[in-house]
Amino acid sequence: MNLIIVESPTKAKTLGRYLGNEYIVKATTGHIRDLPKSTLGVDVEHNFKPEYVIVEKKEKVIKELTQASKKAKTIIIATDPDREGEAIGFHIQWILEQNLKGKKVDFVRATFHEITKEAILNAINNPGKMNLKLVHAQEARRVLDRLVGYKLSPVLWKKIRRGLSAGRVQSVAVRLIVEREKEIEAFKPVEYWEIGAQVCKVKKPKSQFRIDLVKIDDKKAEVKNGSQAQKIVKDLEKAQYEIAEIAKRETFQNPMPPFITSTMQRAAANLFGWSSKKTMREAQVLYEHGYITYHRTDSVHLSSQALAMAASYITKHFDTDYLPETPRQFKTTSKMAQEAHEAIRPSNLNLALDEVEANAQKSGAKLYQLIFSRFLASQMAAARIAKTTVSVKAANYLLQAKGEIQLFAGWRKVYGKEIEDVQLPELEQGEILDLLQVLSEQKFTQPPARYSESSLIKALEQRGIGRPSTYAPTISTILTRNYIEKIEKQFYPTQIGTVVTEFLLKNFDKVMDYDFTAKVEQDLDDIALGEQKWTEVVGSFYNPFVDKVKSVEKNAERVKIEAEKTGNKCPECGEGDEVIRVGRFGRFLSCSRFPECKYTKNYTEKINMKCPDCKNGDVIVRRTRSGRHFYGCSAYPNCKWASWKKPKTGGSD
Ligand SMILES: [Zn+2]
Ligand SMILES: [Zn+2]
Repeated sequence: MNLIIVESPTKAKTLGRYLGNEYIVKATTGHIRDLPKSTLGVDVEHNFKPEYVIVEKKEKVIKELTQASKKAKTIIIATDPDREGEAIGFHIQWILEQNLKGKKVDFVRATFHEITKEAILNAINNPGKMNLKLVHAQEARRVLDRLVGYKLSPVLWKKIRRGLSAGRVQSVAVRLIVEREKEIEAFKPVEYWEIGAQVCKVKKPKSQFRIDLVKIDDKKAEVKNGSQAQKIVKDLEKAQYEIAEIAKRETFQNPMPPFITSTMQRAAANLFGWSSKKTMREAQVLYEHGYITYHRTDSVHLSSQALAMAASYITKHFDTDYLPETPRQFKTTSKMAQEAHEAIRPSNLNLALDEVEANAQKSGAKLYQLIFSRFLASQMAAARIAKTTVSVKAANYLLQAKGEIQLFAGWRKVYGKEIEDVQLPELEQGEILDLLQVLSEQKFTQPPARYSESSLIKALEQRGIGRPSTYAPTISTILTRNYIEKIEKQFYPTQIGTVVTEFLLKNFDKVMDYDFTAKVEQDLDDIALGEQKWTEVVGSFYNPFVDKVKSVEKNAERVKIEAEKTGNKCPECGEGDEVIRVGRFGRFLSCSRFPECKYTKNYTEKINMKCPDCKNGDVIVRRTRSGRHFYGCSAYPNCKWASWKKPKTGGSD
């Protein structure tokens, strides 16, 4: 008998279906050995040796696994194919070796990127050894994050407020959001004008179209104020319109690569409004049932079997011109591409959607379909578009109209939207046009947009701060810690988020530096590749950091947080002001004389609107446990009305 160990019961069940009686599959149910919960757990005096303990409530699982391994000839560690999976496997092997003292058992490691019969058998028949480089990279991340959290938090407690915490990657993510808010506050809108004309052909049918001002005296048109705009409008009203040039060209649009973790999270956020955490939860279910390849990856590579599978599906379901001459292979820029071998794709294109829905619910099936079409599109022919630019001369002005016609949908047939045609009438060079109306509109430049789930992931990725396994936990952690809030799909810094960020920037500039954080992530990658020693990476970070902690603890001034006043006196002591404070569970009313006066009361944030459902209660702002804003009714629980979006006015009084 052989024992296979994986991390989740669902994955164990899927594996069991494909394997015969000579195998028993058991699950660890996550990590079984980790750093202790309530102490540092790292021996900084002795090369950062981690002091691992058995994770709470895992004794029973360990006992079961030990029993099973006593009867096993070979123990196959088949945890997920990344650093986290390697570490889980490493620790269970370590424990079992202790428990099996004296008995000779073979431990092997089997890695596969999709839970299909073929992939599993291939992995089991060609097993390898535990990859200690990956284990060390995981260990280094765990230890670094533990050191930063444990050393930095007490400083924040002492200098700002009790209960605060800081994290290596999280604090830098909050910084992005705080800085964006400052850019928005500092933004000064600049006036500009858009000028165009509605024109038509002289001959019947007098088909009309719009042209836009692009050049004045052969220079790019920049209209900065009303008087300048007025002069141009006057000129254009008197001018004669003649077609100067018609430029036609055919363009190709290639499909996007198949999903990796970041692009999947971003697409699901944009299309479904999902948090990255929700997307990963759904993807986990799909992966464990064997429906998709491993969902933590930064490789866009596709296996040759995957390419063949796509080609045969396209041949069967589409006209021949939808299949490109050669399969499309995409280039992975990440150095770590070897760690997880493939992009996220379906493991079987002919799987019935009913089956996915039965095991992964409606939302799982929704994500599956998105992964399916993105992968299929990546292997389909380019879209072909005919573009026309018509340039019209009017006195010393040049105006243009652009037409676009989709000649061939290609991959757009299955992913995203097909291109909407913008038709222009048949025109000739030298043709004279009739002016119908000159159009002008005052505009102002817009401040940069606040980050959304999607654009924050993109920013983290571009700065080299994020990794497939970290985007979702980073964002959900800073939301639950109340450093940022999500209001109608946009991230706002909270007051405490801003205060902590400013404090950290002033006192721990290196930890807060984007490039430095990216460099540490790079170092972790190097450890995984065997190019750096993990203790050296941790040491070169820790030693200057801990000196800084000591000096800041001694020298930095305490930061006072101004609580927002309601304008009322404290109803309890009558002396202090009633203020709004932000705690772990949102806003509450308190007294400015706290801790001398202990007055507290629930705070409901009204937006001056009656409930659109019962018309009786007030619409109030509430937040979910994960920090996302929503609108509810003050008459809850009698009225159950709730909405993610602010109700339209009209329900207001
Ligand atoms: Zn009071
Ligand atoms: Zn109501």
